[in-house]
Amino acid sequence: MLNLIIFGPPGAGKGTQAKMIADKLHLYHLSSGELLRQSAKNPEYNQEINSYLDFGKLVPDELIIKLIAKDLETHFNNGGVVFDGYPRTLFQAKSLDNLFTDRGINPATVINLELEDKVAIERVMSRAENSNRSDDRLEIVSERFKIYHELTEPLLQYYKSKNRLITIDGRLNIETVNKNIEQKLKNHK
Ligand code: ADP
Repeated sequence: MLNLIIFGPPGAGKGTQAKMIADKLHLYHLSSGELLRQSAKNPEYNQEINSYLDFGKLVPDELIIKLIAKDLETHFNNGGVVFDGYPRTLFQAKSLDNLFTDRGINPATVINLELEDKVAIERVMSRAENSNRSDDRLEIVSERFKIYHELTEPLLQYYKSKNRLITIDGRLNIETVNKNIEQKLKNHK
């Protein structure tokens, strides 16, 4: 069973690559951002989720962990999962590792799409022109990058120390990034 985490700042291409890999390897693509935007349509969660999403803040660990676990209940048997946007804090990372080890499954391999802020911000801002996401305004985008560096990027050290980290140059075009991921995954096993 193969489980992957696609990692990187906003704009690194996580969603695009996660989808391509999931399609090719017949894995389940789990985007935490999509899960939250879908869950926010439910009146039970709407206000709480949007009070974070709209400002580029992370939703509380407890909430996202609960939503992810619920989503996985129905999808865990499908062979494997490509996580996109999850985990984003050390607490989430440890919780996900436990979920695997509790089931006797190897923890997920992490694919880090490396991209400098300047390029990543440009990408997010140009994507914003065609999106109606409430968090694609420049001040909110800046907040998302700040949070990425403060809370999410430190996970790289955690995964590196566990020898589960693959790093990919995220500046290259979509097909090349995808090929490089496949190549490095083969060598990693
Ligand atoms: P991007 O990575 O391009 O910023 P996402 O769609 O992955 O966009 O995430 C959008 C928003 O959803 C985040 O800014 C955050 O508010 C929330 N979110 C997504 N994943 C998580 C997570 N793992 N933990 C907490 N909040 C999350």
